[in-house]
Amino acid sequence: RRPNAKGVDLSDVRELDALAKGMREADARVWRVAPLIDGKAVTTDTKGKERSTRPIPSPADTGQTVGDVIWADENDIEAALASAHGAADRWSATPGAERAAVLRRYADLLEHHTAELIALCAREAGKNIGDGVAEVREAVDFCRYYACQVEDEFDGEKLLPGPTGERNTYRLDGRGVFVCICPWNFPLAIFTGQVTAALAAGNAVIAKPAEQTSLIGYRAVELMHEAGIPGDVLHLLPGDGPSVGAKLVADLRVAGIAFTGSLATAKAINKTLADRDGPLIPLIAETGGQNAMIVDSSALIEQVVADVIRSGFQSAGQRCSALRVLYVQNDIADTLLDMLSGAMAELSIGDPWKISTDVTPVIDAEARDGLADYAKKASDKLKTIYTCNLGEQTRSGTYFAPRALALESIKDLGDEQFGPIVHVVRFEAEQLDEVVDDINNLGYGLTFGIHSRIDTTVERVVRRIKVGNAYVNRNMIGAVVGVHPFGGEGLSGTGPKAGGPHYLHRFATERAISRDT
Ligand code: GLU
Repeated sequence: RRPNAKGVDLSDVRELDALAKGMREADARVWRVAPLIDGKAVTTDTKGKERSTRPIPSPADTGQTVGDVIWADENDIEAALASAHGAADRWSATPGAERAAVLRRYADLLEHHTAELIALCAREAGKNIGDGVAEVREAVDFCRYYACQVEDEFDGEKLLPGPTGERNTYRLDGRGVFVCICPWNFPLAIFTGQVTAALAAGNAVIAKPAEQTSLIGYRAVELMHEAGIPGDVLHLLPGDGPSVGAKLVADLRVAGIAFTGSLATAKAINKTLADRDGPLIPLIAETGGQNAMIVDSSALIEQVVADVIRSGFQSAGQRCSALRVLYVQNDIADTLLDMLSGAMAELSIGDPWKISTDVTPVIDAEARDGLADYAKKASDKLKTIYTCNLGEQTRSGTYFAPRALALESIKDLGDEQFGPIVHVVRFEAEQLDEVVDDINNLGYGLTFGIHSRIDTTVERVVRRIKVGNAYVNRNMIGAVVGVHPFGGEGLSGTGPKAGGPHYLHRFATERAISRDT
């Protein structure tokens, strides 16, 4: 009942041709998006005047406008909150099977619109084709996975044991209005995962897409409505954190927050929630990581290099799961770093639309400048091992050259850099436990990788490391729904894991009923 989506087979020429054709057609659409309230785009103000729009530049070519967006204002926020609040109980009372059916219809629509969605991911988020395929596939997987869970666990009352003369049952209901604040790095997959989980559990939802990827969020919500989510149950409010997100979080009609993004924002949300009057409500936060990989001298170096390239530089390193600190045992470090530099030299950096592109731009100029600033400022503590060359073709976009930087000690590591930078630290065999403790002491706990062909080493390290997702002798990104439930601990997030068995429960409230019979 739970097969993962097949996606597009990029090695099949016919599938590839159909995809390219679909992407070109979709690219001709003129995107103009606005707050979606009660299923309608609010493009005019209260006096009927057209509202002002903001252009959305493409990361691959900032001179090109992908579309225009109208950010939500106070009126939109109030209208969405009032409508969602009024709809929440009705939606929670719909049978779980009905909510599951809508999720499955949305998954089918995502598959039907695959080419268009990949085109949007390329234009608006600068994702390459492979990443676009993965976005759609993961979004589809979330829908079908949560649909199964709703059918199994959320449909009606479950009978519990009890003494004679007493009938005990247990039921999961929606909490009310859930606010989903979504990231730009998985503008379709994580957006869909957060929103469908909240809906599946029986909540009305107000979704705020990241301001960089409003178009993709808008299209996703359009398709959810088409699939049968009622307009008053799901609203979209484009905008930035201060003008939209912060206001929603502070409103007492909101019964839960799902957030994916920076640690600083998660802390700010926590603070607002702590200071709010009214009920205590959950925050489900997925933040970042300072993810490490340990490579001992028994590792297969060719495999390590391929996995470092993928973990550190795919999606231009803009994954919470991405590799940030590579620990290499001294005996093999020179060989490994030579080979890594050679592999980095082969990376093709450029146009997201080209099937051969490995590394795409980072999301915007602010992100690029922040990374460049870090690389410059840190230069006395960090020695460059290798920096990729950015060719002419990257001039018009917000590209940042992937690089490997040598770091004396992890204690010199600054804040998380959300881009294609891998730090390299050397270690001696007898330092292994200390290395694991140093990683744990950073306080993050998202992903971790170990490459070793010594089973006892692997087991020792895997037992000691404190992370949500540990990967052995493979790359450390691309968690698959239901297969690698994803999410961290400590500074990396609150849990529960997306695409895992406990996620939906956190969006729900539990009710037990004892009847005297
Ligand atoms: N689930 C993604 C992965 O495993 C990362 C999600 C994120 O960056 O938030 O690569």
